[in-house]
Amino acid sequence: MNEHDDTVNRATRLWTLLDDAQALLQGTCERTEAAQVPDLSACAAALTCGEEPEIQTGISQLDMESLRAAVHSCTRCGLSRTRRNPVPGAGAARPQVMIIGEAPGAQEDESGIPFVGRSGSYLDRWMHAIGFTREQDLYMTNIVKCRPPENRDPSADEQAACLPYLLRQIELLQPKMLLCLGLVASQILLDTTDSLGRLREQTHSFHGIPLVVTYHPSAVLRYPEKFRAPVWEDLKRLRSCVNELNDED
Ligand code: SF4
Repeated sequence: MNEHDDTVNRATRLWTLLDDAQALLQGTCERTEAAQVPDLSACAAALTCGEEPEIQTGISQLDMESLRAAVHSCTRCGLSRTRRNPVPGAGAARPQVMIIGEAPGAQEDESGIPFVGRSGSYLDRWMHAIGFTREQDLYMTNIVKCRPPENRDPSADEQAACLPYLLRQIELLQPKMLLCLGLVASQILLDTTDSLGRLREQTHSFHGIPLVVTYHPSAVLRYPEKFRAPVWEDLKRLRSCVNELNDED
């Protein structure tokens, strides 16, 4: 076991033990009626202004299977020329939480599966610590579905080209909550330039769906002493909000 794995294991054990018996935080997570079946087509149109209307309409009418096929053959932005495999997303058909990162990395590009490798494994441990599994409770995806070369941030044009897929996924999956990982995904969905520290301070609403912001697992792996505790607080708030929403159903 290398030093990194040892750090991850110690962090996971600590997190599992921490607050194990503590009641999860009281939250204020209200999901509006409109959020039950959010209509994000207007949002998609606004985010991709200038694009042919029929293209927008086409994506907004896809079912999940068709959407996956469309992503696999997509050439809407230049990332189609450098990807090995697009990574549409994966998880439960009716997720409690939809997890949204920035873009696939090298191992995702290789496998076509979201959040694999060290960061993905670490994210799985976070989710297990609050009682969620990929298969039953989560859907994982990214703002852009194809890997940017050298893991650079996706450009504004690439984000705009790909966002209609994400918005349609949210419409179809109707997750109870959204969890944004990292600054890029958080700023895009919340349409803000606020810092991640500021965005973590509250639970947001994305078209009526409660949205929590936290650090990306890769950042926590690099700086565990700095980010581990704040992420745990965010995860507890996420779990508490999901519990509240389930109690209301
Ligand atoms: S990143 Fe999105 S818009 Fe660009 S080619 Fe891939 S699927 Fe299409």
